[in-house]
Order: sequence, then structure tokens, then C-alpha cells
Amino acid sequence: SSSPTRHYAITLLPGDGIGPEVVSVAKKVLQRAGSVEGIHFDFQEMPMGGAALDLTGVPLPKETLEAARSSDAVLLGAIGGYKWDKNEKHVKPETGLLQLREGLKVFANLRPASVLPQLVDASTLKKEVAEGVDLMVVRELTGGIYFGKPRGFSTNDNGEEIGFNTEVYASHEIDRIARVAFETARKRRGKLCSVDKANVLEASMLWRRRVTEIALEYPDIELTHMYVDNASMQLVRFPKQFDVIVTNNIFGDILSDEASMITGSIGMLPSASLGENGPGLFEPIHGSAPDIAGQDKANPLATILSAAMLLKYGLGEQDAAERIETAVLNTLDRGFRTGDIYSDGNIMVGCTEMGEQVLRAVDSEA
Ligand code: ATP
Ligand code: MG
Repeated sequence: SSSPTRHYAITLLPGDGIGPEVVSVAKKVLQRAGSVEGIHFDFQEMPMGGAALDLTGVPLPKETLEAARSSDAVLLGAIGGYKWDKNEKHVKPETGLLQLREGLKVFANLRPASVLPQLVDASTLKKEVAEGVDLMVVRELTGGIYFGKPRGFSTNDNGEEIGFNTEVYASHEIDRIARVAFETARKRRGKLCSVDKANVLEASMLWRRRVTEIALEYPDIELTHMYVDNASMQLVRFPKQFDVIVTNNIFGDILSDEASMITGSIGMLPSASLGENGPGLFEPIHGSAPDIAGQDKANPLATILSAAMLLKYGLGEQDAAERIETAVLNTLDRGFRTGDIYSDGNIMVGCTEMGEQVLRAVDSEA
């Protein structure tokens, strides 16, 4: 592109297990795609998770959160592992992730689930159903029943113990997630399906009313509504009907996992968590995979595709994002596969080599 060099500060949080392996590969891909597109990145690497616990005694040091807050975007690897799980008395590395999401005020979680033509056999669905699936779940992340009050344990009139939670949504919380979803649909195929339980739940009735109201700002987007029970069925019956799905915290938790299992490729799936103004948080959906850590076996593509989401949704650098996505597809077309997505007739490679092949593909597009 002809515009002058753009500069961005990126915080890298490699974390634990395979995190450092996949983040180091994704960093190189960002650098290479950036240099072709006239983008300069300043990377700052900070400790987080178990690595930070060992170093400083807390999973999210103040300095790490500060660095993340003052940067333009954050790329995270993975958090946790056996080493810290067995220690019951201590803080878990994963609490650092919750603190980070809270600290960055990221209320919108974007999880794409695509069945790539090269990996259609990995899908848990029949080929005819899986082929061409390309959808995105936009989940509200900081409200709803996971946070609503009152909550707790008590006793009912019969003296029996009860547990209770409350689903609460304020209009502004629905409006802002709806806007993120409409904007997302605009960057994709222009279709949005809002999922709720408005036939039963008041919070859902408000949800549907607000989403319908916000839709007036987006006349170019085709909006539909679906009850969550039907949506979970439609996801496995005919997933191709969806472009963007927007839903509340608990329904999104469930539907995004359902959608990711359709693809069958955990090592391929990225995510983005966005706030109002501040930096977004971008990370693969997989965990730290301690069973393969340190062996150069991890699939770096989920993190590379998270870097592409960072460009598209975090920085508005659509061209650079597409350059990376195209390079990933090209690398799969040339037959390169890590162990998790390997099938007969392909070329088995490790994490580093997969990264080198994506870099080659980025170069060959230039
Ligand atoms: P979490 O840490 O989020 O609770 P988990 O510990 O249940 O998740 P993961 O760490 O994601 O799960 O690993 C689940 C399985 O998938 C493991 O066998 C792991 O080796 C494999 N896996 C996860 N990510 C990758 C990857 N990027 N490349 C290859 N295999 C992976
Ligand atoms: Mg794990």
C-alpha cells in the first residue's frame, strides 16, 4: 500500500507450555507481513501465567498489565500446566487471564470457526454438512449470569439447601456487544443471527429488543433472531446458514465450544477479545498443551491466525490480515501439516518449520 509506515506497540504474553513456541512463530509472521504492508511493530514481551508466578509470585504482575494497557494490541500464547495445577494452596496461573480480561475491559469475545477445504476431513460432521462452514460467534464476556447478583447458597422454606444465580443485562451492555457484532458482520458476509431465550427469560426479552433497535444503525446487515435451543441444533444440522452469531455470556460459552468442535481442529482456531477503546486481546483457543510442550510439535496456525485477527479487529489493518490468512491457506495447500492435523499424503512438520513455510508464503505473495 502507498500510505506511510504505521507504527504499533504490541505486547507479547507467551505464557506457559507451548505458548512461547507458538508466539515466537506468530511474532515473525507479523513482522514479515508488516514489512510488506508498510507496518512497523514494536514488540514488548512480558511474563504472565505460571511463568510469572515462578518469577514474581503472581500470575499477572502489575508491570505486565500496565504494558498491555498502554499498547495497541496484546498477543497471548497459553496459560497453565501440570506444574501449577497440583499446588492447591497457591494461586492458579489461569486467574491471571481473568484479571487481564478485566483489566483490559474486553467485553466482546470473537471466535471464528471455519472448516477449511484442506481440513474438511477433520470435522466431526459429514463432509456435505461441514464443507464451506465459515462462522463467527460473538460472545458477551463481562456480564450476564456469570456475574449477576444476587448469587450464592441459601436455604429454602423447607430448610433445603439452594444455589442461585441471576441473569442481569443492562441496555448499554447489550447495545455495545450488538454494535461489535454488527461491525463484525460488516467485515464478513453481512449476516447476523442474535441468539437468546426471549420466549422465557426477561434478560433475553430486553436483549432482543435492544439488538432490534441497534439494527436500525446497520440497514446493510441482515438480522435474524433464534432461540438458543434451536441454534444449538441448527449448528450441527446446517451450520453453513450462519455468518455471525451474537449471544450472551453463558449461551456464547456453550455455542462457541460447540462451533469449534465442528471444525475438529483445535490447533487452528484463533480468538479476539475486544473492549470499547483500549487494546484488544488476541489468543488461540487451545490451552498450553503440556503433553507436547518443548518438543517443537505444536501447531502455530491458531496463534498466527490470532495475529491476523489482531491486524483486522485490533488495528484495522485489513490488507495485512488477509495477507496472513492467504499465506496460511497456501501453506496448507502445499501439504504442510503439524501432527494434530496430519493425514496421509501430507508433509509432517514441527512448529518451527510450519512457521518457516508460512513466512515463505507471505514472501511469495509480496
Ligand atoms: P485448557 O488449558 O484451555 O483448559 P486443556 O488443557 O483441556 O485446555 P489443551 O491444552 O488445549 O487442553 O490441549 C488439549 C489437547 O489438544 C492436547 O492433547 C494438546 O496436545 C492438543 N493441542 C492443543 N493445542 C495444540 C496445538 N496448538 N497444536 C497441537 N496440538 C494441540
Ligand atoms: Mg491446558
